[in-house]
Amino acid sequence: MKKQVVLLPGDGIGKEVMESAKLVLNTVATEYGHRFAFHEHAIGGDAIDRYGNPLPDDTLKACQQAEAVLLGSVGGKKWDNLPANKRPEKGLLGIRKQLGLFANLRPIKSFPALEHVSPLKQEVISGSDILIIRELTGGLYFGQPSERRENGQAAVDTLYYQRYEIERIVDKAFQSARKRRKHLTSVDKANVLESSRLWREVVEEKRQQYPDVTVDHLLVDAAAMKLVTSPDQFDVMVTENLFGDILSDEASVLTGSLGMLPSASVRSDGVGLYEPVHGSAPDIAGRGMANPIGMILSAAMMLRHSFNMEEEAAEIESAVNDTLNEGYHTADLNREGGKLVGTAEMTEAVIENITTKS
Ligand code: ATP
Ligand code: MG
Repeated sequence: MKKQVVLLPGDGIGKEVMESAKLVLNTVATEYGHRFAFHEHAIGGDAIDRYGNPLPDDTLKACQQAEAVLLGSVGGKKWDNLPANKRPEKGLLGIRKQLGLFANLRPIKSFPALEHVSPLKQEVISGSDILIIRELTGGLYFGQPSERRENGQAAVDTLYYQRYEIERIVDKAFQSARKRRKHLTSVDKANVLESSRLWREVVEEKRQQYPDVTVDHLLVDAAAMKLVTSPDQFDVMVTENLFGDILSDEASVLTGSLGMLPSASVRSDGVGLYEPVHGSAPDIAGRGMANPIGMILSAAMMLRHSFNMEEEAAEIESAVNDTLNEGYHTADLNREGGKLVGTAEMTEAVIENITTKS
């Protein structure tokens, strides 16, 4: 049976890097005998221009019927002056919410060929391989009330979690740790926050079901420090929405360029939305020079998390690593020597490494 995948290229370089993802997935399909049905739809600024709505009904419906959604990027200067609820970004938030994608997965992996790009010392970041799992639909960003008080001179936000919301994200984290190096770090602020004490309680209960996974608890301030001083002590990290937002951006400096990073937003049944961490990069859009690797690695995450194709995902990741080791680099990677290439050549080189290895 064909795997049903919705493609949302979106705006700017999103369109360009989506082509790369399609080519790579088609290569994997041929090599491993899989069949994907791609359904392309409009989102973001592109959808505003064509249909007057950043998330047309047709797009939302297609996403609700898909097993996985691949997204390029949305946004750009052209739409910056629209009111907040009509902007391109609204389309993306709408999909995440409508699909109930509560777990945001951000792998942070250092590639040997790029370790010099990071501002951190090479001996610190060398070999880092961390998966940060951030709760995405609860916590401080969604708690009610969230309002101004006392004639606007005071303000309140609410950090609210229900037990089931913590249980499902913690389950996802244990399951992911099982497929990796079997270590889970739960990050909280249990010395101060009641919601963190509930979080810790749930992790302690859940660990009985996963005796093969080792667990530790870390306060978020200590976690922020250790991420950049001893990243090698982490395998999977799980944390609530706000802490995860901050820690995942911090961790991205371990890898060098924004153009390298993939992400996934998933729910328990495997349905997920996969997108590069970078935005639409209007400054380089349309010039064929965008780094496609964040998008390609997002497609690999889709294979792993929505379709259980672990071997195929690992194959793409190792082809990316080989390609970088061969000296291929796009302009954002700031390398001297080697081969400076554009989006299409970088994609071709990755594909070449997939087909020669398997
Ligand atoms: P957004 O609001 O859309 O998220 P942003 O401020 O996060 O935008 P990006 O669009 O991600 O910004 O771009 C930030 C910088 O990184 C830009 O200079 C852009 O050209 C560069 N950049 C981002 N992604 C890539 C990529 N895939 N390849 C090369 N350069 C990139
Ligand atoms: Mg951004």
